[in-house]
Amino acid sequence: MPAPDRVIVVGGGVAGLVAARELVLAGREVVLLESSDRLGGQLTSHAVAGIQLDAGAEAYAQRGDDIPRLLRALGLHDDIVTPVEAPAWLHRADGSAVPLPATSLLGIPGVPLARDVIEAIGMRAALRAQLDNLLPGLVAARAETVEQLVLRRMGRGVLDGLVAPVVRGVHSTSPAEVQVEQVAPGLRALMLSAGSLAAAVRARRAKAPAGSLVASLRGGLFRLVDALVHDLDRFGVEVRTGVEVVAADGDGVTTSTGERLRGEVVMAAPLGVDAPRTRVTVVTLALDAPELADAPRGSGVLVAQGVPGVAARALTHLSAKWRWLAEATPLQLVRLSYDDGVEVTPELARRDAEALLATPLPHPVDTATVRWERTGRRSDPAHAIDGMRRVGRLNPAPVSPPSSHTPVR
Ligand SMILES: Cc1cc2nc3c(=O)[nH]c(=O)nc-3n(C[C@H](O)[C@H](O)[C@H](O)COP(=O)(O)OP(=O)(O)OC[C@H]3O[C@@H](n4cnc5c(N)ncnc54)[C@H](O)[C@@H]3O)c2cc1C
Repeated sequence: MPAPDRVIVVGGGVAGLVAARELVLAGREVVLLESSDRLGGQLTSHAVAGIQLDAGAEAYAQRGDDIPRLLRALGLHDDIVTPVEAPAWLHRADGSAVPLPATSLLGIPGVPLARDVIEAIGMRAALRAQLDNLLPGLVAARAETVEQLVLRRMGRGVLDGLVAPVVRGVHSTSPAEVQVEQVAPGLRALMLSAGSLAAAVRARRAKAPAGSLVASLRGGLFRLVDALVHDLDRFGVEVRTGVEVVAADGDGVTTSTGERLRGEVVMAAPLGVDAPRTRVTVVTLALDAPELADAPRGSGVLVAQGVPGVAARALTHLSAKWRWLAEATPLQLVRLSYDDGVEVTPELARRDAEALLATPLPHPVDTATVRWERTGRRSDPAHAIDGMRRVGRLNPAPVSPPSSHTPVR
């Protein structure tokens, strides 16, 4: 019997929700299966001091027009916000702190001999980075990881002093683990046309709308989930929560209760992904500390590896970063991220915040802690918030045409 003209979307995170919406708009009958009792996956919120805040992703990369177009279609376009222009800081292994170079991408400087670069990594390392301008664009054009690219073009000083803390803070891993195309798609091609890595960084920065590489929604990025769910309901997608898919093949899926659903499969969950899991703990503190309103460390602090006395790997000063939040409450909101293996308590987070913001801080008015387990780090493009087109990439075999499917478990 031929499979029905139905698409089964597995996973109700943002990728699954966006895929389901696109498919139903393309005229397909769509069923979305989500194993938990909640839609949104890593896009969700929690209340801190009575304010609803993002508990997972809080911003999206401004690359291309896909997300703005989606937000327009969902009626959220007028709520797009960009962060306050305040550089993040770098807390170095020796305990000192410097602003991250203004013109940079992933910590890669666009102007290696700029004063802020020299201040961050020293003249010798900056001069080595400047060699990038003399190397042909072809050098390291095929580098796969960020480490290979930066090491060959700009040297160890930039890699260890700038790029590693940024990658660690933003992607919870080391530059050796991160594929360039994953985190900076098109950067190597831009390097070839622009002639150097620094020139590619400058070109990429200049292209970012409103000068910012990221954007979000007033009120929190999690609002995207409600808007998507509302649309799925409006367009007649059958959404089933509490349904775990345990196997999928070219003909459909099997759930943990043994139910078999037939149809084309779009995989937006880490089923069959053979990749390590990473655990991240995020603590948000609401502080009655008006002195922080001056944003002593800009939008936040990225922490180099091995800083004595600090366990956090990054701090985001939410109230300094997002204007709408500063307007919403006189409290100061900071969020700290921790890697696996750290026994995280709100008191530890408060002490880390004190060290990183270089300011004595009172006991928080309120705190919230979320522990995340992220699966499939090596498949992150498939998980990316703007990665809908790759939604099927989690499946070892393409999901279409059905005949090419490989069962996944
Ligand atoms: C603390 C934190 C901060 C982040 N910050 C940012 C940021 O600022 N910007 C950014 O771009 N990204 C950020 N990310 C990453 C971003 O949130 C994710 O890349 C994105 O939300 C992943 O969406 P997804 O739909 O692919 O996967 P998920 O959100 O993981 O959704 C997958 C869904 O599938 C369900 N599922 C799993 N297995 C099954 C199964 N067998 N059957 C049925 N359902 C299943 C899960 O329950 C889940 O709901 C952050 C992540 C975290 C944890």
